Amino acid sequence: MANALERQQGNAEHREQEQDEESKTFEELGLEPSLIRALIKKGIEKPTPIQEVAIPLILEGKDVVARAKTGSGKTFAYLLPLLQKLFSESESRNKLAPSAFVLVPTRELCQQVYSEVLSLIELCRGQLKVVQLTSSMSPSDLRVALAGPPDILVSTPGCIPKCLSAGVLQAASINDSLEILVLDEADLLLSYGYEDDLKALTAHVPRRCQCLLMSATSSADVEKLKKLILHNPFILTLPEVGD
Ligand code: ADP
Ligand code: MG
Repeated sequence: MANALERQQGNAEHREQEQDEESKTFEELGLEPSLIRALIKKGIEKPTPIQEVAIPLILEGKDVVARAKTGSGKTFAYLLPLLQKLFSESESRNKLAPSAFVLVPTRELCQQVYSEVLSLIELCRGQLKVVQLTSSMSPSDLRVALAGPPDILVSTPGCIPKCLSAGVLQAASINDSLEILVLDEADLLLSYGYEDDLKALTAHVPRRCQCLLMSATSSADVEKLKKLILHNPFILTLPEVGD
């Protein structure tokens, strides 16, 4: 497991901190009991290093770029605070478009993240609605999926322009409603050809929207996305042992 964390914001100096011998609990990170109980039902008791640093920052509303190797727990690092935020304001919401978009590069990952969100919501007995969009969906399938609208949309980026051009999502509604945008496996999104789709979306992402970029590696593509989407983010890098 990695033994040091590097955190940087804007031009602030790089800071390295030795990770405490004793890692924090999910409660100490600010997570609600219902989510902690859901995690325990899944056999998860303590946060991984990337979760330990990312969860409090995301709960505070910061934009975050998180880089940590595959298998380090990045999905819960963003899903747990995302759900907590949406649970806490679900009654006051009167939206025309989803409050959160989670965009991923592949259909398989889309299914995986969708199942993970659904399972957490069910274990919490939460009221949030989540849908996944796939590239094979017709305009009428998309219309049905987005009726309501759902609170959380999990999709590959290509579906968003398709929804916009079919009139199933309105740019103005995205601008009014979107609170959290997650790009998961961000290091792969551009090489999978989603740059234009992401640009078509980011034109409508409001300035107040919290943006989270998760990746396994740092690359020129991640830098490009960071510039396209984030505003003065916290950069969390979890070096591998020996880095
Ligand atoms: P990444 O996105 O960084 O590649 P994942 O989020 O897919 O990693 O997590 C990898 C595995 O670790 C998953 O099976 C997940 O359920 C598990 N996991 C996530 N967080 C924890 C935790 N805090 N403790 C134990 N296992 C965890
Ligand atoms: Mg992942």
